[in-house]
Amino acid sequence: MADQMEFDQSKDHIGGNFEWDVAPNCCALLKVAVEDEKFIFVSNFASDGNNSFYMMPVTSEGYFARDNGVAISHCPWCGTKIVGRKKYTAKST
Ligand SMILES: [Zn+2]
Repeated sequence: MADQMEFDQSKDHIGGNFEWDVAPNCCALLKVAVEDEKFIFVSNFASDGNNSFYMMPVTSEGYFARDNGVAISHCPWCGTKIVGRKKYTAKST
């Protein structure tokens, strides 16, 4: 048990492996960064009906460059306030 190390991120952040209830629609780049690039992560923490978005810098070796993501509230590409919400299956409540 003790020798098993897993990313903490896995329980709070899901990259690409979820469906949108409300997909961010400010520009195509943000959605691609979440769904395909796995560079922006969507937290399960939500406020005001929006899930929190995080940027996770990755080193050239593919490891996370830092322990915590950088919370972003505005799209880094187009500057629009991010509005996005995950769709939860019935079991989550
Ligand atoms: Zn955008």
